[in-house]
Amino acid sequence: MAQKLKMWNEHSTWKEAEQTWDAGAKEAAKTQPVRGLSQLPSMPGITKETSKHLKWKSFQWIITKDHKGEVRRGFFKHPLKYGWAYVKSVLKGKPYRREKDFFLYGVKSVDEFQKLLENPNSIFVVGFSYCHKPFECPSGRFTPECIHEPEHPICRQCFIGKAINALPENNSVALAIPTVHYIGGKIFEIVHNNPGKDVLFIITACEMTLEMFGDLGNMAGIKGVGVRLDGRICNTMKAFELSENGVKPGITVVLDDTKQKILDLIQHRREGVN
Ligand code: SF4
Repeated sequence: MAQKLKMWNEHSTWKEAEQTWDAGAKEAAKTQPVRGLSQLPSMPGITKETSKHLKWKSFQWIITKDHKGEVRRGFFKHPLKYGWAYVKSVLKGKPYRREKDFFLYGVKSVDEFQKLLENPNSIFVVGFSYCHKPFECPSGRFTPECIHEPEHPICRQCFIGKAINALPENNSVALAIPTVHYIGGKIFEIVHNNPGKDVLFIITACEMTLEMFGDLGNMAGIKGVGVRLDGRICNTMKAFELSENGVKPGITVVLDDTKQKILDLIQHRREGVN
């Protein structure tokens, strides 16, 4: 995704930037409102049937569907190191700790993660699953693109657009994520391009994906937060498979208080490193 100047840079304080953004979003909604969910469906994060042998299913998925070699290429840069880290994570049981909608990988608490964000030399990766892009997204939904253009009426109402515009310029990477293999490949690329630096992340995804691919994150040695999505999530292997192939008629959402927590972490990073 092209990195361009962010709207927050035009304002001297976070508060001023956010108020301007929100006022613009309200205006945009008057003329071109985005389609959302009329009500939140009540769905289990993972169906009972799907939760059986999930680690094995995720391993098979990663190996057999890596058609472009995105994960394979990264893995074979350091096969012993990554292989051992993967086995350790698998044997540990749950690859994460959970604090409400936040799934924590490689850190014990959100406070610990927040402390790590204060290191300006660390790389801060913020990734968004394509399934919560608006239906009207000008970059298309099943793509790694996101123009995050503040003056575009759809981007202005989009949480992804707001979060990306609030990110600090240096050592930040924003990603829109079409598939598990795409994000796996990107993470390896970022880790290998930044030797010796901590790679910290906030990535939104369905609970099932956070459960399935946590071991991969631990294998790459990254630390951070997987944010559980709500709304029309994937909670069966069939829905996941369709979604990974771009078939996602429903939309997912980040709940309001969770959005606020994500913005708080971005603000902490921004004010700590600028
Ligand atoms: S900011 Fe939102 S609407 Fe705009 S391109 Fe990115 S995902 Fe699409």
